[in-house]
Amino acid sequence: MKQSLTFIPTLREAPKEAEIASHKLLLRAGFIKQIAAGVYTYLPLGLRVLRKIESIIREELEAIGCSELLMPAMQPAELWKESGRWDDYGQTMMRMKDRHDRDFALGPTHEEVITYVIRDYLNSYKKMPLALYQIQTKFRDELRPRFGLMRGREFVMKDAYSFHTNEESLDEWYQNFKQAYINIFDRCKLEFRMVDADNGDMGGSESTEFMVLNKIGEDTIVYSDSSDFASNIEVHNLEEGAKSPDGNGTIKHAKGIEVGHVFKLGAKYSEKMNAMFINENQKRHPVLMGCYGIGVSRVMMAIIEQYNDENGIVWPKELAPFDVHLICIDPRKDEQSQAAEKLYNEFMKNKIDVLYDDRRERPGVKFSDADLIGIPVRITVGRGIKDGKVEVKYRNRDEVIEVDIDEVKNNL
Ligand code: ATP
Ligand code: MG
Ligand code: MG
Ligand code: MG
Repeated sequence: MKQSLTFIPTLREAPKEAEIASHKLLLRAGFIKQIAAGVYTYLPLGLRVLRKIESIIREELEAIGCSELLMPAMQPAELWKESGRWDDYGQTMMRMKDRHDRDFALGPTHEEVITYVIRDYLNSYKKMPLALYQIQTKFRDELRPRFGLMRGREFVMKDAYSFHTNEESLDEWYQNFKQAYINIFDRCKLEFRMVDADNGDMGGSESTEFMVLNKIGEDTIVYSDSSDFASNIEVHNLEEGAKSPDGNGTIKHAKGIEVGHVFKLGAKYSEKMNAMFINENQKRHPVLMGCYGIGVSRVMMAIIEQYNDENGIVWPKELAPFDVHLICIDPRKDEQSQAAEKLYNEFMKNKIDVLYDDRRERPGVKFSDADLIGIPVRITVGRGIKDGKVEVKYRNRDEVIEVDIDEVKNNL
């Protein structure tokens, strides 16, 4: 993609409302633009990263046998009245009326809709297990939208739902999902922990949160230094410094960003919404459910929170908006622009995602924008091209290496 043709509105200073590194950098590097409190546009660079995270999620979920669907954001009140959450959900739910004065909500989550979608179909034990997911926009009128995409009022979530005839099957899939989440967050290069969690508004019997360790996190993780984070010990309401319940260590607290959450819902929604199946013995039973969320847009910020330096974002390879940032120092000089253009076409031919800075800007502006945007490899075509040389620099290293342009081509 040519930088002169795309839209990357970089800023010298971060807007005042940005408090944390990832929010400042996403704004400054031209990845997102705020439209209202907690409501953002993903600009071309931001959208590319979001799509990369989404494709990692898709790959890992399809690998365990999940199928993708897409449910509506606009949801009729009737379904929420069936589950009882029309009244319980409170002000976090964005509500509206249609022209006939009928109540609707913009979905904060999709348990009600998915239960409606499957309930006629899942009438027999032969049709389970079944697992479905979507990647979709959610709406929550958060009391304190803040930290950019971290706590949005409109945000992208991956939500999945599984359906079972018995507890063993639910547990097996719950474990499969946990492993898929581990794979996803590993591939997103995040340092995270799994912790036992309260089920909160969702109901159900068991739930696990995936927490990225970070000081800006709004959740407190309680763990014992004698064991893994929150591994199977009852850690609720334990003061920091107290003796841990297993007697071997001390209770510690750490801050975490909740990037994912998996729940065993059991029969909570199927009983209320009448999702029943006939078992092997011709008896009617409520379908057992699990649900599994990932905050896709929040993950993008958590990654940046972990990968940045004083000059900008330092993208891990698998998540970067482009593989290579190609810079032409002076596009008015034919020998530079021709060589850069040729290299650009070679990259494209070899299916390497390249952002080509062909703008008529000062080199200083190009380099500082490149650092800010954080693409892993920078290749600069400048004066050295008359001897067939270009400069290569990795975003996470200091040295600049001069190499033959042919060597770059041969190593594509
Ligand atoms: P939080 O505790 O941060 O409010 P939650 O527990 O209410 O999150 P869930 O209902 O478990 O969220 O939703 C699944 C995932 O969606 C969360 O783990 C989180 O990553 C993401 N998420 C939730 N609320 C937001 C939000 N307002 N903005 C961005 N992502 C969110
Ligand atoms: Mg919440
Ligand atoms: Mg939570
Ligand atoms: Mg949660």
